Amino acid sequence: MTLAGTWKKLYPLTEVHPKLNEDRTILLESPVIDCAPNLPQRAATPDKKLTFLRDSGFYAELRRRVDDYFVSSGHNERDCWPMYLKTAILFSCLAAAYGLLVFVAQAWWQALPLAALLGLSAAAIGFNVQHDGGHNAYSNRPWINRLMARSLDVLGGSSYIWHWKHAVLHHTYANITGHDTDIELGLLGRLSPHQPRLPFHRWQHIYLWPLYGMMAMKWHFFDDFRQLAEGRLGEHAFPRPTRSDLLVFVAGKMVFFTLLFGIPLMFHSIGVVLAVYAVTAIVLGMVLSIVFQLAHSVEEAEFPLPRADTGTIENTWAIHQVETTVDFARSSRAAAWFLGGLNFQIEHHLFPRVCHVHYPAISQVVEATCREYGVRYAEHGTFSAGLGSHFRWLRRMGQPNPRVEGRVEDCAVDPVG
Ligand SMILES: [Zn+2]
Repeated sequence: MTLAGTWKKLYPLTEVHPKLNEDRTILLESPVIDCAPNLPQRAATPDKKLTFLRDSGFYAELRRRVDDYFVSSGHNERDCWPMYLKTAILFSCLAAAYGLLVFVAQAWWQALPLAALLGLSAAAIGFNVQHDGGHNAYSNRPWINRLMARSLDVLGGSSYIWHWKHAVLHHTYANITGHDTDIELGLLGRLSPHQPRLPFHRWQHIYLWPLYGMMAMKWHFFDDFRQLAEGRLGEHAFPRPTRSDLLVFVAGKMVFFTLLFGIPLMFHSIGVVLAVYAVTAIVLGMVLSIVFQLAHSVEEAEFPLPRADTGTIENTWAIHQVETTVDFARSSRAAAWFLGGLNFQIEHHLFPRVCHVHYPAISQVVEATCREYGVRYAEHGTFSAGLGSHFRWLRRMGQPNPRVEGRVEDCAVDPVG
């Protein structure tokens, strides 16, 4: 089968794929996680496929308890009416902010809050609608998931690149240096103790914050095009897009740039349009970056490495997901609503195909099961506590010779069974 054919079959397979073979390698114990293709491995283990230990019973029991929750509560895992309502509210906010900015606003004090609202609306659609759709967690109908996932294409991103970068690489290899591209900031920053430290990283806990605000602009104008041209995400190659994938990519960019420049320039000067875009993109970049950093780049998250001789992570897949991820502000209903359950990242990593509206409820089950099985469940009580932890982690990673407490260094090294 060709690479394009592999991709073509991937979306259906990500829905339910208890067994995969031939074209892809089963790297995971979970029956619900997205499949991982035969991807090249990092330089440290060039001829080893990265694998996890077999589930020792923790995940099977957790899955059973979560299934029990859905049976006893009568809730559906997907196609939940609060999601459809939230989608309508968020797109209405986005359309209202955009319409008022382009057709009504005449003064900076009107444009500024509207640009911020536009950035927040775009972020919320990404967190809630596109993210659930991209994980096939929005609906049981594949076309609805595809539609929601492709909202990213008209908001300046690429659902094709996102699938490989986030749903496959990040969710398979969370916090594994050289594999998870979400913890790679290039030369600008050091988020993992296994990344090289440069002298100026000493100040990264100060200078990275404004750079987070530049992230959305980088995605809009640079990253998607470069990654599509290169066919690579870090160390990993990904399949070339099919003709229809390319069509969605090109059409999405055309719609986005028409909304961004084409229509506004009919009513406003180029300076005004660029200034409004800058405010919107900075708000969007800051919010997206910080929310993702609080889940994985904090003091409590682990950064394990695979064994050099076997390429094995010395942990089961499910426990790896829990220990590399940290929840925050679980008691805040506002955070849960706006962030699309991304403050419940442990639950999201364990059950990416469950609609996020259920995460607050199943987090009780996950936490209790973790405690019972001796799996460390980490959370920050508030958003600001998570923010403080990220700040300290950046400062620590920027210092010379920080103490490394990765799983490989701490645990006994036994051959994989
Ligand atoms: Zn995700």
